[in-house]
Formats: sequence, structure tokens, C-alpha cells
Amino acid sequence: MARSVPLPPSLWVATARPAPATPPLDISRQADVAIVGAGYSGLAAALQLAEAGVSVIVLETGVPGWGASGRNGGQVIPGLKPDPDEVVAMFGAETGERLVRVAGDAPDTVFALIERHGIDCDARRCGWIQPAFTAADIGLTARRAEQWQRRGAPVAVLDRDTVCQLVGSPVYHGGWIDRRAGSVQPLSYSRGLARAAQTAGALVCGGSRVTALARDGGRWKVTTGHGPTVSAERVLLATNGYTDALWPRLRQTVIAANSFQVATERLPDSVRRTVLPEGHVASDTRKLLLYYRCDHHHRLIMGGRGPFREPASPRDYRHLEMVIGLLFPQLKGTRCEFYWAGRVALTRDHVPHVHQPAPGLTVFLGYNGRGVAMATTLGILVAKNLIAPANNPLPFPITAIRPIPLHSLHRIYATSILQMYRFRDYLAN
Ligand SMILES: Cc1cc2nc3c(=O)[nH]c(=O)nc-3n(C[C@H](O)[C@H](O)[C@H](O)COP(=O)(O)OP(=O)(O)OC[C@H]3O[C@@H](n4cnc5c(N)ncnc54)[C@H](O)[C@@H]3O)c2cc1C
Repeated sequence: MARSVPLPPSLWVATARPAPATPPLDISRQADVAIVGAGYSGLAAALQLAEAGVSVIVLETGVPGWGASGRNGGQVIPGLKPDPDEVVAMFGAETGERLVRVAGDAPDTVFALIERHGIDCDARRCGWIQPAFTAADIGLTARRAEQWQRRGAPVAVLDRDTVCQLVGSPVYHGGWIDRRAGSVQPLSYSRGLARAAQTAGALVCGGSRVTALARDGGRWKVTTGHGPTVSAERVLLATNGYTDALWPRLRQTVIAANSFQVATERLPDSVRRTVLPEGHVASDTRKLLLYYRCDHHHRLIMGGRGPFREPASPRDYRHLEMVIGLLFPQLKGTRCEFYWAGRVALTRDHVPHVHQPAPGLTVFLGYNGRGVAMATTLGILVAKNLIAPANNPLPFPITAIRPIPLHSLHRIYATSILQMYRFRDYLAN
């Protein structure tokens, strides 16, 4: 008998709206499309397909939102990791500018979905601030703002006093704001997407790990660990940082790095009014960036990198607890009540990848920690491309699966880079 792997404890698990019922796949079935993974990528694709009348079955090891989609910071940020001009330099003017547009509009896509389906997930759209950690970073934030301004985006450079006041911290040197951004309760958003996909007709199965994919008489046979199979014309693989050995060499195309978060106890009103008082979300420019926001219950949530391995003890979160007091002196002595981590998928070129390694199989992954808006958007665009390819070209070129050289050594390499970055940030402090 299959059972869903439960979500590990987190602030989001403690405060999310109830989960829809997603029992394991009961018997072998047929569908037009089978989707592996019930995060934003898989669920947004399922919703789009089901609304177009395509029969869809989503298969998930845990429950909807079990991966990064139920654990992230809930910051709905436009854009890709590389800046707009870099994207154009990477992909050429036409594809690059289209990609910049798609990624810039990605928060619109998320907030429109939330509204259309009445998803109850504490959605707010107050903007994202990127504060400059060092004086040298002021130029970087100004260049970013200028690149988006040139493209008509509602962004602005902020001076030191404004950043300090809007963030509630004295440590920054300036920064910029992107007003397209906002926040959600990420697990409630995942559950809302799952519910919307079900309402549109998709079958969403938790506790259904896919263990084999094979061609079978012109269709795909998708086998689950507990026995039942799905026979489907097309398969979408949407497994991001939780990609396993299901498709050869795919896991080696990304570095699955843990990102760690802590959430404080509820802040008294007088203190809460001094921390991100206008509801912005933020991530700063340091090498090992810190990302933070408040939730609807007046807690501060602080996130950042930690060890590459899974968290083993409260010590793995101590750097985040310490940084809260350094950034926000008014919070010194505030206790943290929640600790959790999840995996982001990093690619070598810092942009998502789309692969079609066999007929009828599409893989999309690699959001580099910027997936709330982008995974939702790419899920929708992959689904639209599947329904009517001529009218809906994919925003990213389809590339071959290329493992990162010496992938197995990357943990060691990345751990030493992390330590070097931490030291550099410490010196810049
Ligand atoms: C701690 C943390 C903080 C983050 N903060 C932010 C943020 O504030 N803003 C932002 O934009 N992005 C953020 N991100 C990134 C963002 O969460 C992800 O990019 C996004 O959720 C990816 O969605 P996804 O659906 O592609 O993958 P996931 O949500 O990871 O889903 C993949 C799913 O595939 C399932 N799966 C894997 N293999 C199988 C299999 N063989 N069979 C069945 N199921 C399988 C997994 O169980 C998992 O549920 C953060 C990520 C983390 C981890």
C-alpha cells in the first residue's frame, strides 16, 4: 500500500490552508499527459492542460508542495538570475528580449492565477527590495534598475535612508525596488494550484513515486513504486531540485543545494512596525544572499544558504539566527520558532533548462532559487506549447541533457566556495 511522504515541519506547514485529498494512484490508468512532480511547475502545467480539456494525471512522491514549492520564502520576484542585458547577450536580441519579458511578467501570471481560481494564500503585492550590502554594490543595484527601467518596468533606485527605513535595518548602503513583486504563503499556493487542477479535471496522486519511464507501443508507460502504471501519450518531468535517477543523467545537470530558513516568534506590534513596515519582501546583494520577509502573523522569516547536506541539528541554522540580530538590532533576543530547509536546483548558466530527450517527453527545471513566479510561468508555457506548438513557442531553447562535468565533486567544490563567500561577506560587513 502506497503512502505519501509527509511534509517536514515548517512555518508553512503550521499555517497553510488545508490540503486537498490526493490519494495514491489506485489502479493502472490512461491519460493524454502524465506529469511527474506536484510543485508549481507540474501543477501549473496540469491546470493549464486540464482547462484545455486534456486528460492529465500528476504523480508525486509526497503531496502537492512537498518539494521546494511548499518550503520556499514565498517571494514572488520577476526576472531570472542573470540581469536583462546578460540574458540578451546569452540568447540574442529576439529570444533574449522575449525571455526578459516573460520572466518580468511572471508575477502577473501568478497573481492572475490566484485571483482567477480564488486561491487563498495570503497573496500581497507590495514589491521587492534588493538592498546593497556594500558601498560597492550600489553600482550593481543601479545598473539592474536601469536595465529594467529601459524596458518600461516599474522599478526605482532607492537611496540609503529610504532603504534603511523600508527595510528597518541600518546596515545597507542603498538599493532598488521592483514593484511587480509580492509574496504568498507558498504551501497554501501549492495546495490552491492542486485544487484548481483537480477542479479542472486533473487527477493528482500523492504517494506515487515514479520509478520507471519506458516507451510502450508508441506511448509512455509510467510505472509507480507501488505498482499501478499510467499509459500516456506525453510525459512532463517537473522534479527540479528533487530530481532522482528516473531519467538518465538528468540529475547531473543541476546542483541540488539546500536553502535554509528560520521564522521568529510573533513580533510585538511596536517592533513589527519597524521591520519591512510596508510589506516589502527583500533579498540582499551579498555573495551568500539573505532573503527575508514578514508573514501575516507578524513573524520575520530569514533565509540563506547553509551546508550542502540535509540539516542535521539546530546548529545548521545558527548563522541565520545570528544574522537576524545583526540586521535588525531591534530584534536582538527574539526567539526563532521554526527551522526548515529545501532544495533549489542550480544550473551552470543560471537559467532554467528545457529538454526533450525522447519523443513526447519534456523536462523543465533549474530555477536557481527564483522559481515561485518562473516555475508557474514555465509550467503554463510548456503546457500551452504541448497543446498548440505553432502559436506557443517555448521561451527557452530546447537543449540536450548535458551533465555538469565532475558533478559528484561539486559538493566539495561548492562547500569551499560557500566558505570563501561567507568569509568575503564577513570582511565586507
Ligand atoms: C528554502 C527555499 C527557499 C526559496 N525561496 C524562493 C523565493 O522566495 N522565491 C522564489 O522565486 N523561489 C524560491 N525558491 C525556489 C522555488 O521554491 C522553486 O524554484 C520552485 O518551487 C520549483 O518548483 P518545481 O515545481 O519545479 O519543483 P519542486 O517544488 O521542488 O517540486 C518537485 C517535485 O517533484 C517530486 N518528485 C521528484 N522525483 C519524483 C519521482 N520520481 N516521482 C514522483 N515525484 C517526484 C518531488 O517530491 C517534488 O515535490 C526557494 C526554494 C527553497 C528550497
